[in-house]
Amino acid sequence: MPNTYRTNVEIDWCPGCGDFGILNALTLALQELKIPNEKVALTGGIGCSSKIPHYVNVYAYHTLHGRSLAQAQAIKIANPELEVIAAAGDGDALGIGTQHFVAAGRRNVDLTYLIFDNGVYGLTKGQASPTLPYGESPKSLQVENIKDPVNPIFLALASGYTFVARSYSYNIKHLKDTIIRAIKHKGLALVDIMQPCVTYNNINTKEYYDARLYDLQKEGWDPVAKNEDEYKQKLGQATIKSLEWGDKIPMGVFIEYQKETYDERLSRLLMNYKSKNFVTLPIHENGKPVNDITPLIEELI
Ligand code: SF4
Repeated sequence: MPNTYRTNVEIDWCPGCGDFGILNALTLALQELKIPNEKVALTGGIGCSSKIPHYVNVYAYHTLHGRSLAQAQAIKIANPELEVIAAAGDGDALGIGTQHFVAAGRRNVDLTYLIFDNGVYGLTKGQASPTLPYGESPKSLQVENIKDPVNPIFLALASGYTFVARSYSYNIKHLKDTIIRAIKHKGLALVDIMQPCVTYNNINTKEYYDARLYDLQKEGWDPVAKNEDEYKQKLGQATIKSLEWGDKIPMGVFIEYQKETYDERLSRLLMNYKSKNFVTLPIHENGKPVNDITPLIEELI
């Protein structure tokens, strides 16, 4: 079956870049879910990863550095009928975009956040990004990294994300299935994707991850919390598990918890929030604009 979610825009990622696996997994996930193209909105920030809105045949928005998640939340709040996906690199999401990353956890807007995590700022020649481990010196750095890394899984758990997962760009099936599960989740879902940068990071490579990643779910990890007590218990366990990084690195779903989403909270405050959302209201009726702003313009003149 042809993949109707791909555009024919020329892709300018480096050959072998992990980003290709994410593009494939995302479009396969949309194809499997059969979501109409016009019902999907995809945002990207700035960076190699954030070119992905150009390559996916949906409503797409290449936004500002660090603002992909902010724009995605605004889109979802304005039009709850859309399936909204935000894409960002690790530098984008966890450097300049950190405040949005944390604040989003408090809202639980129903959307999916994909982080393309490769430890470097690939677009600007491989400087250390916030997730590069302490002491590593990929070939793009002259000296070793002397900062401790941000742990996206740990931070998402602490910030209140209701679905938190890690996946891998060279394991398309695992990534596609994880994206599908994240999209189906009602609430804010993070998928932190290990995505080797073949040009600048010669440490966190395909060989590095192939040797270390293991599947939490295959080891019997049950991430689903059915009530608040279970959530607290599983949150503690998932937080400890999120610290595992070394010879073994866990991937899969760390936690999944269904609780009130932001649009459900808004619906309590704003009557008709969903049924009469402004983006679904007609702008014309019988050839006349519903809201005639002519008097306003005349007054201004
Ligand atoms: Fe991919 Fe790195 Fe090339 Fe960017 S610089 S396209 S992340 S391989």
